Amino acid sequence: MTTLVDYLEDVAKSSAESTAYIWQDQPFSYSSLTEDINQAAGTLESLGIQKGDRVALLLGNSPEFVISYYSILRIGAAVVPMNPMYTASELEFILSNSGAKAIVGIGKMKDPLLQAKDKLSSLDHVILTGEGSDSSSGYISFSSLLDNNQTPMGSVSLTKEDTAVILYTSGTTGRPKGAILTHENVLSNALATAEAMEYEEKDVSMAVLPMFHVFCMTVSMNASLIKGVPIVIMPAFSPKETVTAIQKHQVTLFAGVPTMYNFINQMPDIGKEELSSIRLCISGGASMPVELLKRFQERFDVPILEGYGLSESAPVTAFNPLHGERKAGSVGVNFPGIENKVVDPEDREVPPNEVGELIVKGPNVMKGYLNLPEETSMTIRDGWLHTGDLARMDEEGYIYIVDRKKDLIIVGGYNVYPREVEEVIYQHPDVVEAAVLGEPDEAYGEKIKAFVVTKNKELTTEDMHGFCSQHLAKFKLPADIEFIEELPKNATGKILKRALKTSS
Ligand code: AMP
Repeated sequence: MTTLVDYLEDVAKSSAESTAYIWQDQPFSYSSLTEDINQAAGTLESLGIQKGDRVALLLGNSPEFVISYYSILRIGAAVVPMNPMYTASELEFILSNSGAKAIVGIGKMKDPLLQAKDKLSSLDHVILTGEGSDSSSGYISFSSLLDNNQTPMGSVSLTKEDTAVILYTSGTTGRPKGAILTHENVLSNALATAEAMEYEEKDVSMAVLPMFHVFCMTVSMNASLIKGVPIVIMPAFSPKETVTAIQKHQVTLFAGVPTMYNFINQMPDIGKEELSSIRLCISGGASMPVELLKRFQERFDVPILEGYGLSESAPVTAFNPLHGERKAGSVGVNFPGIENKVVDPEDREVPPNEVGELIVKGPNVMKGYLNLPEETSMTIRDGWLHTGDLARMDEEGYIYIVDRKKDLIIVGGYNVYPREVEEVIYQHPDVVEAAVLGEPDEAYGEKIKAFVVTKNKELTTEDMHGFCSQHLAKFKLPADIEFIEELPKNATGKILKRALKTSS
């Protein structure tokens, strides 16, 4: 079996009536899911979409996302997931850059998508959810994909090197880049996830992170569905609705970014009972503050396993083991079948506990960036993907992400990793969230600025400064502390430091 679809069809054969997903409290079986996938695949094929083409998805978490995603893979085309929060010009860039032949999007994006179709010669079809079918309007309704009675298609022959997904990563500078993930990349990481989580019969997984992001796509959607574990599809994250759905559907596996754990932990009126069905929480996508990890685990009596990954590695490369030692503040050890190494600027491995760039190798590493050979050869050297993250590895192979290379602050020649300062600020009992970054400074080159969200309106910058000075060397102390209402975040829940930089 070479693709996710092969695995999904296998489950559908052996467990046709088992629940594949739960949407708006209704269960849907594997047989209904694969029927929808085949129908949609047949219609896409009849629209002229074939192996090697690209189809963009601009959808929130929904059955339409899952059906579209698997039907595109089913006919050998590549999925290009997009963030529904993109602006019209970002959408147009990605549609043009990927050469997408069709897009499945949410109805409210009709106007920008139809405009894009007029401008882009490569974009032949706009398929919209929640809109009536009206071919004269220049688009096709999603529902008509499913009731076209298309004849079942033959299977497409695919190799593991064929492209499955093209993920546009936000990119630190300039335009987003399309990371090309092959069938082997996505399948191997889904299988490694399943192995690491040791699925059990009663498992129910929650898909609340955005499905267009690689974390949810692999960990909550692909891995669960191809192993017969039902997913509860949540359209968006709200702490209250998430906790209610966990209880109602007896969710056992929860994957989230640290801000989600923080929001749940801020809820005053819940305790162990509300989360008692959960056997495992997974955190990734951004560093989990150690203080938050400890508070959450203690309060709800559920383990949080932190892992690490990035779009370019489909995504997970390291994970704290389910059995064996879990180290707070660490993203764990090598994920099954994947190697991680910490190197100096000449790509030589550094001794244990020394900081360097984290590089990774394995069947999950992307083929490259679409149409960007130079960027690709700078990022993947000798088969090792250079992550741009600074990390250290202890003697037992546990990896600690220190910070992103580009977020390093240099104060008068001293290196300061924002994460170290953030970890200290989080230890203050009145702190809800914090982000630290560098700002230009005439005397020292850069100075440290901390943005703090607090639940105690009486807390002063002097208090915070005094607290930090008990734990940090003088050059690491924030020169500036600003209290703000909330930190800007992207759709995945990652804190947007760049937005803080421009706002300060
Ligand atoms: P993305 O490609 O959007 O998934 O972003 C990947 C980036 O998220 C990585 O390069 C890291 O900088 C960051 N990241 C992911 N997981 C972690 C983690 N557990 N701790 C710290 N940073 C993380």
